[in-house]
Amino acid sequence: MIPDNVNRDLIPNELLQTWAQAVRTRITTVLQAPRSTLGHLEAALAEEAPNLLRPILETAAQRLVDQQPFHCAICHAPLRAEARHRRRTLHAVFGELPLQRDYGWCPTCDAYGHPADAALGLHAAAAASPRVQEIAALVSLRSPYAQAAQDARRLCGQSLNRASLQREAWRQGQRAIHCRQADLALARTPAGVAALSARSGTAALAPFTLIIEIDAWNIRERDDWGRTAARRRQGQEPERWHWVFTGTLFRLDQRGQTAGGRRVITQRGYVATRQSLDDFKEQLYAEALLRGLLNAEEVLIIADGAIWIWKLAEDRFKDARQRVDLFHVKEHLHELARTVFGPGTPEAQQWLQPLLRFLEQRTDGALEVLRELEALAPRLNNLAEPQQAALHREIGYFTTHHQRMDYKQAKAKGEPVGSGAVESTARQYQTRFKCTGQFWSLAGDEALLALATLYRNERWSRLFPHSDAATAKQWMAALMNETN
Ligand SMILES: [Zn+2]
Repeated sequence: MIPDNVNRDLIPNELLQTWAQAVRTRITTVLQAPRSTLGHLEAALAEEAPNLLRPILETAAQRLVDQQPFHCAICHAPLRAEARHRRRTLHAVFGELPLQRDYGWCPTCDAYGHPADAALGLHAAAAASPRVQEIAALVSLRSPYAQAAQDARRLCGQSLNRASLQREAWRQGQRAIHCRQADLALARTPAGVAALSARSGTAALAPFTLIIEIDAWNIRERDDWGRTAARRRQGQEPERWHWVFTGTLFRLDQRGQTAGGRRVITQRGYVATRQSLDDFKEQLYAEALLRGLLNAEEVLIIADGAIWIWKLAEDRFKDARQRVDLFHVKEHLHELARTVFGPGTPEAQQWLQPLLRFLEQRTDGALEVLRELEALAPRLNNLAEPQQAALHREIGYFTTHHQRMDYKQAKAKGEPVGSGAVESTARQYQTRFKCTGQFWSLAGDEALLALATLYRNERWSRLFPHSDAATAKQWMAALMNETN
């Protein structure tokens, strides 16, 4: 129990009275001004609040610092003090906080440090308090840095400029990559696999199907910053498109429908990386474990026809069923009909329509389509070479994929026939990563992709423990019990 006089020091009466007087004056001014609105009142109070809250936060934060054990972060042995009361000014939500903390040395580990920094959220190179770090990270996920800096200024009164915001987002992205690496390391050992699987919370569920949808899109990157003109003179293009591999994972029972008939997925996992296909494969596997891979009765992989996806599936998800996106398959047939019979001709439609029906309505519909394609070949002998080539390409496509076209069965089981979920996932990423005139540096895009993915996967509290509402509630309840 904290003594009353100590609590009074936290919020001195003098501070309260001075502040109350300032607020009264301020409100009176707003009320007397012509054309004042509620917005003016809100803005005035939002501006006044830090004058009260910043000194309170400063005192409380110094208490937090002072109550931290002066222990080595590695071996937890008491540190030898190297310097007392070292000052550091921290950018926090209500303004600058000057704080003092001790600096020590561990003879065993030969390590130096400020042990209180962990409680202040001051990981390597952090310039701001945890809440400001979180605001910087959140606004950076929504819009380009210059815009995000303006939003942070307008909404939270944070004086973050474009460069500091970008630096902070990159730093948080590195922390997100670090979290991801921890999960990937677990996925490499049997004990770790069991731990990831336990985190999925799916052990006691009724038999379920885990659906994994995979796709790729690309972002524009530029390296050699500042050397664009020089490289162009050498005949080299300084920018290029680079793949971002993307996956989304959910259980079939997490897929529902709104009253309006729109498909919704209540909860799902995300993977997105501009690293190699092997990296993506590892990340997808770890995420699948976290979404219940080991407890799933069935695993279903849905994607467009790209061969790398099926290779990945065979490599990592051997027993999974595979389905190629229905829309892509239909597009193949539409394209072929245009090529062979001419765009918009009645013959094209006449040939196409039954085939589209076979696909969705018959058990072996894709095989029937394949037979129709093969039957078409002799009729095309007198046709030009490009048309014959197109037909043979599609015969190859249906020969390779017909077993992945079980649309009638899919509909009967209430499973998705297409990879729309991952396509909408990709579009969501693209609203941030494919803005007009935007280029990414190699390191910058992976960091922000990792940060965005951690956020989507609802693991934000691994970077910002204060953001976890459930934990905060428990913590408050414990505190109330203690003080009552
Ligand atoms: Zn130590």
